[in-house]
Amino acid sequence: MSSDYKLLDDVKQHLCTCSTGLKLTPDMEAFLEMPMRELYVSLPIHMDDGSIKVFKGFRVQYNEALGPTKGGIRFHPEETMETIRALAALMTWKCALHKLPLGGAKGGIVCSPKELSHREIERLSRAYIRGIYQIIGPDRDIPAPDMYTNPQIMAWMMDEYSKLAGKNVFGAITGKPTSLGGSAGRFDATAKGGLYAIREAAKEHGMDLKDSKVAVQGFGNVGYHAAYLAKKLFGCRVVAVSDSKGAIYSESGFDPEDVSGHKHSTGSVLDYPGAENITNKELLELEVDILIPAALENVITEENAERVRPKILAEMANGPTTREAEEILRSNGVHIIPDILCNGGGVIVSYFEMVQNESGIQWEEEEIEKRLEKKMKEAYHSVHDFAAKNNTGMRQAAYTLAVGRVVEAMQLRGWI
Ligand code: NAD
Repeated sequence: MSSDYKLLDDVKQHLCTCSTGLKLTPDMEAFLEMPMRELYVSLPIHMDDGSIKVFKGFRVQYNEALGPTKGGIRFHPEETMETIRALAALMTWKCALHKLPLGGAKGGIVCSPKELSHREIERLSRAYIRGIYQIIGPDRDIPAPDMYTNPQIMAWMMDEYSKLAGKNVFGAITGKPTSLGGSAGRFDATAKGGLYAIREAAKEHGMDLKDSKVAVQGFGNVGYHAAYLAKKLFGCRVVAVSDSKGAIYSESGFDPEDVSGHKHSTGSVLDYPGAENITNKELLELEVDILIPAALENVITEENAERVRPKILAEMANGPTTREAEEILRSNGVHIIPDILCNGGGVIVSYFEMVQNESGIQWEEEEIEKRLEKKMKEAYHSVHDFAAKNNTGMRQAAYTLAVGRVVEAMQLRGWI
């Protein structure tokens, strides 16, 4: 099974695991296993050299029972509809778990952003919005950034949507720059939310976070801020980080901000002075207290799970652990903070951005932080308490709570 089908299959199996407890009928389960709406788009783009290249894009709106759908847009050369479908399902459960009045969606364009110029990326971003315009909007589906998309891309997308609508519609896209209706605190919200969850897990295990060893896979929006904040907020020792080219390790730890400067000037974290170059695979198997996958899905599998032994595995990436790997990790006593719980900070602050755009009032960063922390703590403890009471793993608890809320909304609306 290819990795994209693997994630989709795992997401369906997790749904299946909680269906007995929720007393789902086969019809309900069949409905929840499928997205409500999917759109494929072909995007012809004028390249800088005068040629025309056609890119493929997708948007999946998985379930809108709880509200307009919401989810990021990925630019990735290996993007597939299967991955996007699985990620849209995860967004649905994530929004429900964090009690947001939103459904779940995801989008993507098959492209290599590193090989495109700034202007080509702008044309592609605008073309994508023209392609999906009919099915998005503040009351329908609100895109946001994800892998290899950023606030500038969100600004172009919001602008294109506004041009088509004939008026400013700031609330059509979130993750915008703060000078253009973006929210304070959105840029590091996913990492910060994940760290609040780690802090709760550490308390539960009587773990002192100060000087605890942390390894982070991925050094983009989520990974960099996770490493930076782990050191800044809790005094953790960040001993390993990585990007798509490889990983670096130093037992005495390093300053993530300085590593970021090195990456900006050299194009990679590799060859950072004083650290040893290792592989992404080796990073996952390091002896650390906290492991934070913050890059791609399906990186902890049956093949390496036996050697992945942190005290806490904080899934800031979506779908980093396969189902088979999870069983091995759990039997080895690894405390897993599942993705839909751990990386909910991004969509929580995106929701705050929507609320601010709608009301025209801008909240201060302290206000955002306070609200984010409250929501993450509540979600963490509801999942933890459910897991303890029902003797399940954290993921099954999170799915059961989330799917239960979606099912209740569908029943109340008279859909099922
Ligand atoms: P990003 O594009 O900013 O960064 C991705 C990072 O992953 C880069 O450092 C890249 O070099 C690295 N990477 C790519 N391929 C890799 C590989 N094979 N091995 C190791 N590293 C690799 O993306 P992001 O927004 O930080 O997202 C990272 C993960 O977090 C994704 O799974 C995404 O779905 C998830 N996530 C992001 C948000 C958000 O707010 N951005 C919210 C929730 C979940």
